[in-house]
Amino acid sequence: MAKLNGPLPRVVIVGGGFGGIAAAKVLAGLPVDVLLLDQRNHHVFQPLLYQVATAALSPADIASPIRHILSGQRNCRVVMARVEGVDLARRVIDVGGAEVEYDWLILAAGATHSYFGNRQWEQFAPGLKTLEDATEIRKRLLLAFESAEYEGSEEERRAALTFAVVGGGPTGVEMAGAIKEIAAHSIPADFRNIDTGTTRVVLFQGADRLLPGFAADLGERARRDLEKIGVEVRLNAKVTDIDARGVTVGDEFLPVRNVIWAAGVQANPLGRSLGVPLDRSGRIVVNPDLTVPGAPNVFVAGDLAAATSAKDGSLVPGVAQGAIQMGRYAGKVIAAELKAGGARPRRPFSYHDKGSMATIGKGRAVAEVGRYHIGGLVAWLLWALIHVAFLVNFRNKVSVLSNWAWQLLTSSRGARLITGVAVISVKLPLPDDRVHARAGDEARRSL
Ligand SMILES: Cc1cc2nc3c(=O)[nH]c(=O)nc-3n(C[C@H](O)[C@H](O)[C@H](O)COP(=O)(O)OP(=O)(O)OC[C@H]3O[C@@H](n4cnc5c(N)ncnc54)[C@H](O)[C@@H]3O)c2cc1C
Repeated sequence: MAKLNGPLPRVVIVGGGFGGIAAAKVLAGLPVDVLLLDQRNHHVFQPLLYQVATAALSPADIASPIRHILSGQRNCRVVMARVEGVDLARRVIDVGGAEVEYDWLILAAGATHSYFGNRQWEQFAPGLKTLEDATEIRKRLLLAFESAEYEGSEEERRAALTFAVVGGGPTGVEMAGAIKEIAAHSIPADFRNIDTGTTRVVLFQGADRLLPGFAADLGERARRDLEKIGVEVRLNAKVTDIDARGVTVGDEFLPVRNVIWAAGVQANPLGRSLGVPLDRSGRIVVNPDLTVPGAPNVFVAGDLAAATSAKDGSLVPGVAQGAIQMGRYAGKVIAAELKAGGARPRRPFSYHDKGSMATIGKGRAVAEVGRYHIGGLVAWLLWALIHVAFLVNFRNKVSVLSNWAWQLLTSSRGARLITGVAVISVKLPLPDDRVHARAGDEARRSL
């Protein structure tokens, strides 16, 4: 057994997302050995992932190495490793074949996409959860315009310039608005053969309103604002199939080359290794003190936890604030028991909802803060302010602010990079008669 020994009790934290980092920080300066494991070397500010996917920001603007975030915390070590499972009875976690002991464990491994049993859709409709997802979507988005520019068939050009977003929650709303904005305002001058302003963005939402987590009037406001900027919003539209040619909704087929999946979330599969009750989304059903049933030294924080708030008995939503508050709570319980030298009565976890917000486009957003329902420019300024404030370090804040200022002034998006070498099929007829087809009516040109 790989025991990272020392006289101090050890807290193992799985996941360097919002929940894991919040927990680690609470334990700073305490007589405890903190070991944080993450399969990636960086923490991602997921609320701004859609801006990387739509070329407004670069990956480094919204991410930071976990090791760097916790570099000032002497009692904390960061290990880049994937945790495969947890053995509650033996108090060990499985880290790629090695076993690591813990005295306390905080599981904060987050969530992943759910395709509702249709995993084969993923290749045509990537979801947005990681930096890799965001750069893949960015690549597909930018390549769609590149291929449309040299597309001979009007039908194919239309399909290349049509984007479908599946799911009308905050991510779907933000993606749909941003794609329409980039097509209509950021890139038209860069293309010669196509009018990117004619790009169609269709947002499919299975429910009868957008933003189901928000008050109904804000969902309606988001729909109106999206339609004002040209997004086609389709409510009560459950997608029944997705393939390389397009999207099917009941009897209707929409030819589309780019689909973005923003419809379903499921908890990290790590939860299954515990052998304890999970909810329908695979989240671990935790006790009021966020511990796993039968394991008072194992806490679950963030998107992996199905937790109810002692405040009103409601389910804690899968949002950054929920994860941060749960992570801090777990850290504080451990800190209190360390100080007391043993177990103490634990107050149940209580979630404080600080509000929700979603952007729709430049100068448009909706925000629900307590009983206040705000829309338009005020909500957008609030959104921008809060997101910058919560970015993890000063460098990210400066970088995001300066990028946004530049975009506001110029409408341009600075991160429009397609990585890798693309081979685009150049179809005839070409507008430029000095380029000729080599065989049949198609020439391939390496760009
Ligand atoms: C596109 C998008 C937009 C969002 N927008 C908002 C928003 O506007 N406002 C809001 O409040 N919330 C938003 N959320 C939700 C919010 O980001 C999550 O609720 C929050 O990140 C959950 O925090 P967490 O700590 O549980 O998990 P995460 O932040 O997801 O962190 C989990 C960490 O665990 C690591 N990990 C996973 N599995 C393993 C393993 N087996 N071994 C080791 N490490 C592992 C991952 O690499 C990751 O670093 C958004 C989410 C997404 C995807």
